[in-house]
Amino acid sequence: VANTPISSCPTPIQPHIMTSTKPRLAFLGGTFDPVHRGHIEPLITLADTFQWQQVHLLPTCQPPHRAQPEATNAQRLAMLEAVAARDPRLLVNDWEIRQGKPSRTHSTLSYFRDAYPDHALYFVMGMDSWVTLHTWLQWQELNQHADLVILPRPGYHASQAAPEVTQWMHQQSNIHFPQLTETNVSATALRQQLQLWQSGQPAPSNLFPETFSYIQSQKLYR
Ligand code: ATP
Repeated sequence: VANTPISSCPTPIQPHIMTSTKPRLAFLGGTFDPVHRGHIEPLITLADTFQWQQVHLLPTCQPPHRAQPEATNAQRLAMLEAVAARDPRLLVNDWEIRQGKPSRTHSTLSYFRDAYPDHALYFVMGMDSWVTLHTWLQWQELNQHADLVILPRPGYHASQAAPEVTQWMHQQSNIHFPQLTETNVSATALRQQLQLWQSGQPAPSNLFPETFSYIQSQKLYR
């Protein structure tokens, strides 16, 4: 694996990272309202590529008085737990939800860096998140806590990132842009499709069956 080129331009994976003997943990933060194939399928592929022992699905905490997400913290956790049963490396991590208020990625990664001192950490985000990175708190420090892994996403390209992010990225050795098949799905589109499904349109195809069953049983997204 050490010499296999798994990242595309702009930053190849450094051999010293791939030959490290530390156990490797990855995190995907998100609203997961609801979880869908665009979240999970790339993670399973990348868990093989990067040899991740665990992949933590890390739902954001949503205070009850906020309108979005539509599903409660408990419902989003339940949907994630069902999907995590698909692969033994997938785990649901409720740390941000237990904080009781929305968390900043910088604080979350700083916490996990301290919590897992003997592990190599990877933080995964979609390209839509990457192109807004300059708006994130302490964004230049994120990769001091974890390698960053950016998933391709239809409609978004690394060239849309702010110039200061692009310039910074070229100086880093632990930001990865793996080549993957893009999955054209978003939770927003799925929520709209689920409403249309109520009025007789076809059911959305990018939900896992267990998620679709749960949504029906809980009468979500109507
Ligand atoms: P919404 O449409 O409500 O914004 P979403 O589908 O983007 O939701 P989130 O829970 O906000 O889902 O996403 C969590 C993380 O997964 C983010 O880093 C996001 O960029 C990434 N992600 C979500 N969908 C995809 C996808 N289809 N391809 C690649 N990355 C994705």
